[in-house]
Amino acid sequence: MHKNPEHPAPLHVLIIGAGFGGLGLAIQLQKAGIEDFLILEKGSEVGGTWRDNSYPGAACDVPSHLYSFSFEPKVDWSRKYAPQEEIFAYQRHCADKYGLRRKIRFGSEVTDAEFIEASGLWHVSTRSGERFSARALVSACGQLNRPAWPRIPGLDGFKGELFHSARWNHGYPLEGKRVAVIGTGASAIQFVPQIAPKVARLQLFQRSAAYVIPKPDRTYRAWELALMRRLPGLQKLDRMLKYFQHETRVLAFSVFPLLMKLMRLKFNRHLARGIPDAALRKRLQPDYPLGCKRILISNDFYPALARPNVEVIDGGIREVTDDALVTADGQRHEVDAIILGTGFTATDFLAPMSIRGLAGRDLNQAWREGAEAYLGISVSGFPNLFILYGPNTNLGHNSIIYMLESQFPYVLDGIKALGEPGLRYLDLKPAVQRSYNQHLQRQVRHTIWEQGCSSWYKTADGKNTNNWPGFTFTYRQLTRRLELDHYECTR
Ligand SMILES: Cc1cc2nc3c(=O)[nH]c(=O)nc-3n(C[C@H](O)[C@H](O)[C@H](O)COP(=O)(O)OP(=O)(O)OC[C@H]3O[C@@H](n4cnc5c(N)ncnc54)[C@H](O)[C@@H]3O)c2cc1C
Repeated sequence: MHKNPEHPAPLHVLIIGAGFGGLGLAIQLQKAGIEDFLILEKGSEVGGTWRDNSYPGAACDVPSHLYSFSFEPKVDWSRKYAPQEEIFAYQRHCADKYGLRRKIRFGSEVTDAEFIEASGLWHVSTRSGERFSARALVSACGQLNRPAWPRIPGLDGFKGELFHSARWNHGYPLEGKRVAVIGTGASAIQFVPQIAPKVARLQLFQRSAAYVIPKPDRTYRAWELALMRRLPGLQKLDRMLKYFQHETRVLAFSVFPLLMKLMRLKFNRHLARGIPDAALRKRLQPDYPLGCKRILISNDFYPALARPNVEVIDGGIREVTDDALVTADGQRHEVDAIILGTGFTATDFLAPMSIRGLAGRDLNQAWREGAEAYLGISVSGFPNLFILYGPNTNLGHNSIIYMLESQFPYVLDGIKALGEPGLRYLDLKPAVQRSYNQHLQRQVRHTIWEQGCSSWYKTADGKNTNNWPGFTFTYRQLTRRLELDHYECTR
């Protein structure tokens, strides 16, 4: 096979990761008649985000008809916003239906990839020492794959139960326990309402309050499901309507930040309805403009915070001892368990993999001032490497699957070009990357994300490396095909 350590027989395509990105691209490769590929996946199942985030209450926050592949519609989602188990089952269904499992090597974590100029091949190694080589290397590792562990003195020495929401310990019974939750992001607002009724006491440590607005969620009625089964076009219609409805939000994010003021009224009403106590309501008012960080949707988060056994604590955590969290004011809060809802190392992208391109150039080094790529996909100096859901392709307003599906034809063009005899490698021209990113960063400057807050969209230095600052149909237009004259084609 392809794993002889000395001279691995080259594959045409090697994909890293079997989440929506890796699975979707593999399906497109097969449709294009390209069978010579392999997916390396560090986990033991497909699914990525939806395999890892099994915490109570996990669900998508983009409607399911939109948060699924356009080429694999599902008409029987149980709810408007599907729970994690259903999305995960859908991904397993895709892997099975398209016969992808035989193409996936599970338990294979890529640690190193080196581009060999003489052969135009990527040499790739895994943690267990397997080696592979391939003409095209595709990273489908996602942006939200590695949990962020907060740097709080003493945290590692905590003697109670400690886990991150993306690595939920389902074996630990929370019933009757004193639980600290650190973080108020998209995950925490989903699991806090689920666990609050079970635990003896829940203390939510908030660094900055989130904007939470209503979630238009409900189960599909039996007649709606029956109708959609009979008329599958309805699913497509709903998908399209939801797409445009979400797309109008760009106007608020990027074009007219004043529109956010209207959304603020919605937020104030939602907060007032959920939190009767005026003092708590005041503490739940974010201190940055709406939209600057991700806007969250939930109907049960505020009511959960209003429960008598739930307390919101702000002011920062100074340290963690054996059995307690100590806040900046010196108060000790004894707990049995700490759950981290602290998100992901989103700006690290392909790290900690070591990716070396032309002349041994290291990708993490090239990105030390913040990741950037052309269309989020190609990086100059790293030939034949294609990144899915790469820099500046995350969204604050619509489905990531739409972005991934926009990237597939572009990457496929590159992969097909590399199948042509005589072409050794395709290296993005530096000027193309430079002018694209200068323009992109100028656009970013006018968005709501730059109105005075830090967020997971930005590096510590404040460079927005994650979000796409425009309409998604513009992005789709830009990625509809790969222009070879943007690349140095070495034969
Ligand atoms: C809790 C949560 C909720 C979300 N909800 C939404 C939503 O509602 N709507 C939306 O649009 N987006 C949402 N997202 C974003 C979500 O990550 C994307 O929509 C999508 O799942 C990304 O798919 P992916 O395949 O690019 O990455 P992932 O799903 O992260 O998959 C990456 C895969 O790569 C593997 N991998 C990583 N590194 C290596 C390595 N070195 N070697 C081998 N394998 C590796 C991982 O194990 C994983 O299986 C959410 C994210 C989170 C965390």
